[in-house]
Amino acid sequence: MSLEKIDHGVEEAGAIMGRIKKMARIIMAAGILTLGVGSYNFIAEGSESELQTPQKYVEYVENNYGKIDETKKQDFVQKLEYLSQKFSPYIVQHLFESDKLRADSKMKIPTKPKVQGFENLGLDNSRLKELWSEKYYPNKTIEGNIDKIELKSEIKKVSSGYKSERILAEQTHSFTNEVLFFADPSCKNNQESAKETVSSLDWTFSHALGHKNDFIQNNHLTTAERVEFLFEVTGAFEKPGSYRDILGNIESMHDPEKQKENFYKVREYWAEIVQYYLTFPESIGSRLSPKEIALIEKWLLKNDANFNAAKAKQAKDKFIENSFK
Ligand SMILES: [Zn+2]
Repeated sequence: MSLEKIDHGVEEAGAIMGRIKKMARIIMAAGILTLGVGSYNFIAEGSESELQTPQKYVEYVENNYGKIDETKKQDFVQKLEYLSQKFSPYIVQHLFESDKLRADSKMKIPTKPKVQGFENLGLDNSRLKELWSEKYYPNKTIEGNIDKIELKSEIKKVSSGYKSERILAEQTHSFTNEVLFFADPSCKNNQESAKETVSSLDWTFSHALGHKNDFIQNNHLTTAERVEFLFEVTGAFEKPGSYRDILGNIESMHDPEKQKENFYKVREYWAEIVQYYLTFPESIGSRLSPKEIALIEKWLLKNDANFNAAKAKQAKDKFIENSFK
């Protein structure tokens, strides 16, 4: 690699960091803090149903999708055992329960989500609805996964999941199919242009989209795929690319039970690499490891193998430029 190229790489990384910091600043100026979902406990906790074992999970898969051959079955059980060890035995139940919920809600979700509440930031909801559509995002990442995107003008505080109490800005609820933004109503965002605000909101949305398309929340996955997906993200998390936790969201996650904390971190990590992939597609290679890129192409682009992140981003920027002044 030539020196010129190295310099360019450093400069590019610096520019991206600057851009990220600017977007984070704009979001804060509007009273919206970009913090991830750290507040959700495992579905299994407090539920009446009994804790699922890896064997029972495999039985459930066989009952729903047909017989699995012996080698595959062993591999499946091993993966579930590994995940139980890593994230506590509750993870099996968590995957199991969410699978049942997902299968159910998939049928009920409209193809296009409702978008509301953004008039409080002076923004046109119908334009945002066009922005947050599969015109600019991969097929089946929004459709069937999100039924509402809403900005609530209220402060939402969460204490669990973080070291100290923080304000939650972006919330993708595990039990519903909503993406909720919370904005402090006392903050008035007068300094930034609408298009800068929208770009920053869109950056936050990309992160939320990662959550909505993860191993727990994606409505389009089979029971077996959830296990495979979580197993692979966990593997990548052990050896992440240099984008990992650029804003410290992952390391700020905290739970008295270490195994659960590990799960929250892996969940957050997935949302962050998706966000990077969709926001800086021209620099994917410089920050994401080949393993991370392969993961995103396999799981996020599962139903849209031809999705071109760079082209989509260009078209999206143009749309934002023309639609929000
Ligand atoms: Zn998050």
